[in-house]
Amino acid sequence: MNSLHGFDIQYIKGIGPTRAEMLRRHLDIRNAYDLIRHFPLHYVDRTNIYNVVDLAGDMPSIQLRGRFLNFRILGEGAKRRLVGAFSDGTGIIEVVWFQGISRIKDLYKVGNEYIIFGKPSYFDKLGRWSMSHPEVDPPSAPGATQGLRPVYSIPDPMRRRGVTSRTVAGWMRALLEAHPKIEDTMPPSTLKRLGMMDLKTALVTIHSPADAEELNRARLRLKFDELFAIQVDMQRTSRGRKLSSQGAVFAQIGRFFNGFYNECLPFELTGAQKRVLREIRQDVRTGRQMNRLVQGDVGSGKTVVALMSMLMALDNGYQACMMAPTEILATQHYESLRKMVAELGVNIRLLTGSTRAKERREIHAQLQDGSLHILVGTHALIEDDVRFKNLGLAVIDEQHRFGVAQRARLWGKAAMPPHVLVMTATPIPRTLAMTVYGDLDVSVINELPPGRKPIVTIMGHENRRYDVLRSLGRQLRKGYQAYIVYPLVHENEKMDLMSLEEGYDYIRDVFRDYKVGFVHGKMKASEKDYQMEQFVKGETRILVATTVIEVGVNVPNANTMIIENAERFGLSQLHQLRGRVGRGADQSYCVLMAKDKMSKETRRRLELMTRTTDGFEIAEADMKWRGPGDIEGTMQSGIPFDLKIANLATDGQIISLASQEAGVLLDADPTLTLPENRLFARALQLARDSDRSWSRIS
Ligand code: ADP
Ligand code: MG
Repeated sequence: MNSLHGFDIQYIKGIGPTRAEMLRRHLDIRNAYDLIRHFPLHYVDRTNIYNVVDLAGDMPSIQLRGRFLNFRILGEGAKRRLVGAFSDGTGIIEVVWFQGISRIKDLYKVGNEYIIFGKPSYFDKLGRWSMSHPEVDPPSAPGATQGLRPVYSIPDPMRRRGVTSRTVAGWMRALLEAHPKIEDTMPPSTLKRLGMMDLKTALVTIHSPADAEELNRARLRLKFDELFAIQVDMQRTSRGRKLSSQGAVFAQIGRFFNGFYNECLPFELTGAQKRVLREIRQDVRTGRQMNRLVQGDVGSGKTVVALMSMLMALDNGYQACMMAPTEILATQHYESLRKMVAELGVNIRLLTGSTRAKERREIHAQLQDGSLHILVGTHALIEDDVRFKNLGLAVIDEQHRFGVAQRARLWGKAAMPPHVLVMTATPIPRTLAMTVYGDLDVSVINELPPGRKPIVTIMGHENRRYDVLRSLGRQLRKGYQAYIVYPLVHENEKMDLMSLEEGYDYIRDVFRDYKVGFVHGKMKASEKDYQMEQFVKGETRILVATTVIEVGVNVPNANTMIIENAERFGLSQLHQLRGRVGRGADQSYCVLMAKDKMSKETRRRLELMTRTTDGFEIAEADMKWRGPGDIEGTMQSGIPFDLKIANLATDGQIISLASQEAGVLLDADPTLTLPENRLFARALQLARDSDRSWSRIS
């Protein structure tokens, strides 16, 4: 491969040791390969020159060509500013500087011609346009009016040291000139068939595109590279596994499954549940290991599907386990499963971080002599000293919190790898699932059990807060419980926690007759668990919380949720949150609190939530309106590659193409050892090695 990985960036013209260190610290850029993959966030179009007279409405950043008529210093103290009247012959716009006044006053000359570039805004009161801190260039400056100019993400500390997008673009040019030979890593057969832009051209283009069409071709090439790597990697793994790994054969359906189905099942299975069970049944009969994902919206009844699959294992003399991401969830699963199989003589136990040593020893012993049928638990299940006699099926609930690596560890638990069933309530559009779960077969439970009352969702405005609280009071008096959820945004955790605490005090003040709980992600785990437990038991009636309650908690008596600052959540996240209510037989409510004044777009998003409870519809809309957002965030942790340009949520078509091409490549060269694919195989290896996202998997 090209030696970009080994190229020290301090030797690039304009960088040097100090800036190299800044790049490492602030952007995690360690070598030329990382640097060249610091792609522009977006581009500004410098092909058009506007006329002042044509400015109207909400303008993007634009450029104007003209002359300063005069400069004046106005205002005092913080309001002190330099104002230049800039005329292009069609009108006048005020150009304003708050900083660097004396320097700028001497820099630009009245009467000379300049190109200014910035975002114009209109001041109604003054009846005129103005632009603050624009870029100002003489018309002859390089790049002043040329094509698409890249805009890079530059962290503040670097910005303060004078690094601009133009500086970064300069580094990229210098790097690409210093490296005239960047070898193309794409398998030649793929490159040829797709007629894609070659790698070097794509890199040059992405950092300094001549026009939009070239840019699109470069983007396509670079996105494809990333997605293709993932597809090849996943498909190679799953092909390898399908060939090599045998799975337990669950030949018969016996007394556990039938006993449960005939005697214990308290309801009729939905059509979707039956279909998914049939799909699972097909898998576990083949003698190959099953790796199946079951997607089903909150409340669609995944647990019983998991249980019945585990009973299939038991009927064939195998053990089963079920792993959940938190202690609370594991405990809840354990409790509900235990009740469901109470009359079947199934030995089921719970293992978590807080299981006592004595009990732990007992569990270990029973696991090894085979008398323990089903083990439910947290990460504790994949600890080294947990050994099953013959684990036949592992169920993983809400898997995105686990990651591929942890799933792999489960397979080490048995001589023959167990079948793996992954359950998730996060609706993922098909192409996204293809990437994130590329090595899994997918089943969908797309039907809710009958008789559910859809959650009534309403918008609650700040100026009607009193009414909202009064309604909440009515629900509490009827004996129900409630969640009040606050957003937590990482950039400003302190302030968020403050608003959470204020909210807590306020609620306690309003509802003095009820016990109010309080839980957030920064709490100690033990304290968090205690708070959750109190709520599960019904001791606390209102739970003031951040999104830590998002996944899986089941308190059927909680029928009301109030979400504060709802506009700050993604739709999919709101959907997940809302799924915490509506779990009982009675009518549930969700109130989305938002500022009285909100943008059209916010209103549209929140109104969708009031209209539908269909998770897939919401996920699709979320991706369309907001881009990948949360979905991608959660999902990315599941893949072993760091995506710099491709977007799992919006690049569905490229994912499909990459998936198809990966199949073609692996058909021809299953082990990637043909000489012409050598460069690609090395690039794949390097991408895996240099990826640092593994450290994000807890
Ligand atoms: P999730 O898919 O969110 O994990 P659960 O498995 O917790 O959903 O099921 C939600 C509730 O629906 C449980 O109380 C469960 O007993 C009930 N349930 C599941 N399947 C059916 C069904 N076919 N008919 C009626 N109720 C069902
Ligand atoms: Mg569940």
